[in-house]
Amino acid sequence: MKFGTKAIHAGLEPDPATGAIMTPIYQTSTYIQEEVGVHKGYEYSRTGNPTRSALEKNIAAIENGKFGAAFGSGLAAIDCVMKMLKPGDEVISTNDLYGGTYRIFKTIFEQYGIKFHFVAMGDVAGVEKIANEKTKLIWVETPTNPTMQIIDIKAMAKIAKANNAWLAVDNTFATPYLQTPLDLGADIVMHSATKYLGGHSDVVMGILVAKDETIANEIYRIQNSSGAVCGPMDSFLVLRGIKTLHIRMQQHCKNGKEIAEFLVGHPKVDTVYWPGLESHRNHNVAKEQMKDFGGMISFTLKGDKLDDALNIVKKLKIFALAESLGGVESLIGHPATMTHAAIPKEEREKSGVTDSLIRLSVGIEDAEDLLADLKQALN
Ligand SMILES: *Cc1c(COP(=O)(O)O)cnc(C)c1O
Repeated sequence: MKFGTKAIHAGLEPDPATGAIMTPIYQTSTYIQEEVGVHKGYEYSRTGNPTRSALEKNIAAIENGKFGAAFGSGLAAIDCVMKMLKPGDEVISTNDLYGGTYRIFKTIFEQYGIKFHFVAMGDVAGVEKIANEKTKLIWVETPTNPTMQIIDIKAMAKIAKANNAWLAVDNTFATPYLQTPLDLGADIVMHSATKYLGGHSDVVMGILVAKDETIANEIYRIQNSSGAVCGPMDSFLVLRGIKTLHIRMQQHCKNGKEIAEFLVGHPKVDTVYWPGLESHRNHNVAKEQMKDFGGMISFTLKGDKLDDALNIVKKLKIFALAESLGGVESLIGHPATMTHAAIPKEEREKSGVTDSLIRLSVGIEDAEDLLADLKQALN
């Protein structure tokens, strides 16, 4: 079955009680048992809930996996993966990680004896050198935030296999419409469903998907033991979001391309970070592992002045100033003063987060209006 058909139908059956075509929101904590141990597959909603189960099956299908697990946030999903490790284990991770991921690794799991190596994964040989018998997990985020680097998932999978480690990929930016890491050798896919999967900026949720039953059983054991699950209402919202994921992504990509090309030709713009540009340093890897290039774009201004960037952010009318991304509406962010403000200037500039760097989450409005908004703000 093709992507759009799966997104709309996978894991979903008409409600057995009424025939309702939409999965009901089973707003219940518990389920009546006919007699001790005799039930319909559900005992308690931390362990399992029919609305959440439908979502878990649906996301597993569109990621070409077998098992899905939904959590109360993207970070709760990451927390689950980290709990599969033991003290003394080592993790090799992308160096320009999502800030919250870096924070949970450094301030929570480091103190439980897990060692993290943060490396530039564009350098495959460098990753190979660090990997050793203690390496249990390679953590990849691609495209990265905010400079949109692309990491070669197949190359990372090879290193993971050779070292008997798992490969986990944060697929939040690309979504399964653009890339399916399990097909490229990953063991676990993670999502902040808060972003493109939900797609309407109305829910916070995390997802894990796996193919291997042993890995999935560990995920389910931790999901139930730690209890960071999402509720049935949120499960319903993300299920509904996924039904239009392919259509939304097509429009995000189309608008993204128009805006990236406009920015490249603008006299005030210095560097444009968008993996669809031939000038992008990982364009070839992006072409190989992604179906299209998405709606996340970052750019810097000539002269790299903080005030110029803040002025543009202020003048934009359609692009709204906010954290987060992946919704139908266009958002703008200024990493140096927002998401990356806690990182010392010298450190953040090393990873390209300079004073004038602006990040766009291009929505699915009409491109003409978005371009006009950027034009007036830049001038
Ligand atoms: C937002 C985000 C997360 C964290 O997800 P939450 O749902 O906010 O907990 C992780 N990774 C990436 C790439 C994100 O954008």
